[in-house]
Amino acid sequence: MKPFGSLRTHGAGTLRPSDDGTDVVLAGWVARRRDHGGVAFLDLRDASGSVQVVADAGEGEADEVLAAAHGVRSEWVVSVRGRVRTRPEGMANPALATGEVEVAASELEVLSVAQTPPFPIEGRVEADEHLRLAHRYLDLRRPGVGEAIRTRARITSVMREVMERNGFLDVETPMLTRSTPEGARDFLVPSRLQRGEFYALPQSPQLFKQLLMVAGLERYYQIVRCFRDEDLRADRQPEFTQLDIEASFITAEDLYGLVEELIVELWSEVLDVELSAPFARMTYAEAMARYGTDAPDCRFDLRLVDLGEVFRGTEVGIFRGALDAGGSVVGWRLPGGGELTRKQFDDWVEFAKRRGAKGLAWGVVEAGEGGGAPTLRSPLAKFMADDEVTALLAATGAGVGDALFFGAGPTRSTQQLMGALRVAAAKAHGFVPEDRWAFTWVLEAPLVEWNDDEGRWDPVHHPFTSPTEDSLATLEQAPGAALAQAYDLVLNGTELGGGSIRIHRRDVQERVFALLGIGEAEAREKFGFLLDGLSYGAPPHGGIAFGLDRIAMLMAGAGSLRDVIAFPKTQSGQDPLTGAPAAVDDAQLREVGLRRLPPS
Ligand code: ASP
Repeated sequence: MKPFGSLRTHGAGTLRPSDDGTDVVLAGWVARRRDHGGVAFLDLRDASGSVQVVADAGEGEADEVLAAAHGVRSEWVVSVRGRVRTRPEGMANPALATGEVEVAASELEVLSVAQTPPFPIEGRVEADEHLRLAHRYLDLRRPGVGEAIRTRARITSVMREVMERNGFLDVETPMLTRSTPEGARDFLVPSRLQRGEFYALPQSPQLFKQLLMVAGLERYYQIVRCFRDEDLRADRQPEFTQLDIEASFITAEDLYGLVEELIVELWSEVLDVELSAPFARMTYAEAMARYGTDAPDCRFDLRLVDLGEVFRGTEVGIFRGALDAGGSVVGWRLPGGGELTRKQFDDWVEFAKRRGAKGLAWGVVEAGEGGGAPTLRSPLAKFMADDEVTALLAATGAGVGDALFFGAGPTRSTQQLMGALRVAAAKAHGFVPEDRWAFTWVLEAPLVEWNDDEGRWDPVHHPFTSPTEDSLATLEQAPGAALAQAYDLVLNGTELGGGSIRIHRRDVQERVFALLGIGEAEAREKFGFLLDGLSYGAPPHGGIAFGLDRIAMLMAGAGSLRDVIAFPKTQSGQDPLTGAPAAVDDAQLREVGLRRLPPS
């Protein structure tokens, strides 16, 4: 295949035995060299792969080539003219796509020399990440690292194909804008022309995409950078990319269909995996009750079981206390867990305590004496009536040899603890199939949740999410019970994206602002442009956004988001390559009306 650019005729990685006898000009990097004096081998690497180049002793020109080959070093950029030949019997290299051929060089020209790289480009050497990022251009030159970036490009290309086929328009929205509340802190940009005022970098294009619906564009998408200044958590990037989607005159069902078409095509085109749609669906309430999280890992079953009924009359103190306080008792069965050692059980108790739980109870189901009913071996067992044990085993499906874990306390935190245990213990004990893609929609999250610290209702998604019709009627009376017309798409326990049907009526938006404690003046000041837009004929609309970095990471089989971003930041938000963030001089600050505070 002819590569782009007239400095060469072929891509190094594309040569095959069918090219035998072809004269080629290649250009690329010296990946490896083996110099035997009378003959030198160079592996020449370009974006298409690599091929072995041979410089043999001979006469005249050949000797010049050999002399040049003696002089080159790894990572120099060279151009090679030569002829493709099939390698002699037994000399093929099956590890290389071009391993059956080599190029006999007749000319070798050095285009660029290189210092010795700070870490090897070839081979699987694990270099320190800071060093890799500081020389990201070398890191990306490493074949596996570059591959993830190519996979990402393939993903965005399929995304565009599917969106455009469905009539969606790619529309750009501003980067210098006002705050969009997605629950994170804004990155601010001081304005020089309007001193003392600031732009915010978008946390998402949410309000603009809604206004595009008011504008009548009907179908919008964008692969767009978003910015959220969040506290350092493992594997987050302060700037990240979303596939952002919005459409008018749709129901949630329409979006599920579109998204499933997109995901099925992505997996098929990029990974050659045929998924089956429609994807599973569950409500948020089901997700919490069965998996203890709004992002359930459905690759394996082993669900949580609410034991409130089983222990309604219990004398087990911790269960009694939790139930009397309006909380829950939640159980989880580990098949074959009877084999665990005391130390292993203690470790799971520690796991629970590290997550702030007071404790974690457990028991093992054992065969009853003389073939009688199975019994529970547990410190709690002596407080349990026989019929309670029977009901417990029926409710959890536990049989002889299984272990049971119990959490008790306030419902939400107990579900979350048991959900975390479910995933960690299932992973540790081999119940999570690594080769499954388990997609699930999680629907109808609550509209708002109570923020105890601030003493107010916070949106679970964002303030523009529509309540369900039923919830709207009782919004002010029972905010905590209100459900949102929201949906998240979850894959193997990770949220890939989320969205909602939006509020398209100004009066409803005003009611939701009021519920969130955003007074009229504040609503006018911050979101007046949205409210105005909604009062000029807004169509019913909804949308969704997907975290592109996360999707690319999962599809590329990468270990971190940083692996699928060409120039990522470290976990402390720094870029070792450019040194960003960096100090600016006082003159620059003065221009934008800022003064440095003395260090605190
Ligand atoms: N704007 C939302 C987000 O960034 C997604 C959406 O509601 O479409 O999470």
